Amino acid sequence: MAAVSVMWFRRDLRVGDHPALAAAVEAGDVLPLFVVDPVLMERSGAPRAAHLHDCLLALRESTDGHLVVRHGDPTEIVPALAAETGAETVFVTRDHGPYGRRRDAEVADRLRSDDRKLRGVGCNYALEPGSVRKRDGDPYAVFTPFSRVWFDVLAGESYSVPGDVTAADGTCDGRPIAWTTVDGDDPPGRPDPGCELPPAGEAAALERWREYLVADGRGVRDYDQHRDDPAADATSHLSPHLKWGAIHPRRLLSDLHAGNGIRGDGPRTFASELAWRDFYADVLFQRPATAWSNLNPKMDTMRLDRDDAARELFQQWCDGRTGFPIVDAGMRQLLATGWMHNRVRMIVASFLVKDLHLPWQWGARHFLDHLVDGDLASNNHGWQWAAGTGTDAAPYFRVFNPTRQFERYDPDGDYVRRWVDDFDTDRYPDPMVDHAAERDEALARYKEVSGRS
Ligand SMILES: Cc1cc2nc3c(=O)[nH]c(=O)nc-3n(C[C@H](O)[C@H](O)[C@H](O)COP(=O)(O)OP(=O)(O)OC[C@H]3O[C@@H](n4cnc5c(N)ncnc54)[C@H](O)[C@@H]3O)c2cc1C
Repeated sequence: MAAVSVMWFRRDLRVGDHPALAAAVEAGDVLPLFVVDPVLMERSGAPRAAHLHDCLLALRESTDGHLVVRHGDPTEIVPALAAETGAETVFVTRDHGPYGRRRDAEVADRLRSDDRKLRGVGCNYALEPGSVRKRDGDPYAVFTPFSRVWFDVLAGESYSVPGDVTAADGTCDGRPIAWTTVDGDDPPGRPDPGCELPPAGEAAALERWREYLVADGRGVRDYDQHRDDPAADATSHLSPHLKWGAIHPRRLLSDLHAGNGIRGDGPRTFASELAWRDFYADVLFQRPATAWSNLNPKMDTMRLDRDDAARELFQQWCDGRTGFPIVDAGMRQLLATGWMHNRVRMIVASFLVKDLHLPWQWGARHFLDHLVDGDLASNNHGWQWAAGTGTDAAPYFRVFNPTRQFERYDPDGDYVRRWVDDFDTDRYPDPMVDHAAERDEALARYKEVSGRS
């Protein structure tokens, strides 16, 4: 009888392009497992939890119905399942988040004490967090030099997908996958996401990517032209798929490379966005405490508002009733769809921090509760970027003017009208603050911590 291994899926909910699965298939029969961890479910808003539910149904289908779902603490469930099935090895895609690392260390210890092992193969990023370093071995804290090395390393590897390339056709590396199963629980119930969700799972992700690769004017070829145009809504919308690993970034890079490097401004700019994703994962890996604390500790003493009046301002921001059309459109798009255009994410984040003087963590939490692509590294470091507390790209004293941003990025008002149905009516609120005055206030507060004149 062939040996059985457990393939414990986490943020890699696909069967193709999957190095950990390929390693498990090489070892023998494969028992696919997903553990519904209450710690992670508590932190997921309804849209993300509903999308996960849909991904698990898709994964169950791609594993020919063999996927075993169990609910509870993975540090108990995984070793118990390995013992129950006699599996010597539990294969995983390495997780680099703060919680995932702690959890995996504990699972590995428990398995080891029972003469079994946890084997991590591959990761959820184009390059493994922690692997892009300066010559002296220090990590990068600035994006541009990080991305230079990132592009060089990937070019050296011809952007190949990690491990094998399978097309979810029941084989892996040319070998048929011998799935096996045991009794499990039902997948988690599907919470009402309160919005319409995109199709989930590997097939949907690949289909979206194929479409995006060839789309005329609205795809990757012209990405540099339209990526800052929220009304065009022509970015890839791959973020929820990347979040759950329904598609791997190396798949995207490998297709863009097409044998002769990544050429053209559109594809190159798109690839550099994937580098941002890797960069933030790297920063969080190097400095796990920066999930919720300022990367730049100098900003810890910044005066922020947290009283009842601040709570009321926050609620207006959450509801998309600030009286600044592009801010309101973004916040309402988030509530209606679980997604927001990147340019607008930057504008609403800047507004919360620099016009309302609220802690970026409030906004980050609200985003994680509503985003279908909510991801700790990209979200919280995206927020720190906007708040001027994180990596250096947006120094605090550069303050977005929400009216100018509206004029520049939505000149015809098409994006705003799509989401703000009362925009042209008397019901639309007056601006909740005077931007010029709040900008001065923000700069005065910044001066207190920086000494900058
Ligand atoms: C305040 C703030 C919060 C954010 N929160 C999240 C989040 O929770 N989850 C998330 O995936 N992205 C987040 N982003 C990054 C970015 O807004 C989204 O990745 C992007 O809008 C997703 O849409 P898309 O897939 O169409 O992106 P595209 O423009 O098509 O880009 C392709 C992929 O590149 C990556 N990417 C693009 N821009 C960024 C970026 N600035 N930082 C990191 N990765 C990027 C994403 O994986 C994206 O799917 C945040 C940005 C800001 C400013």
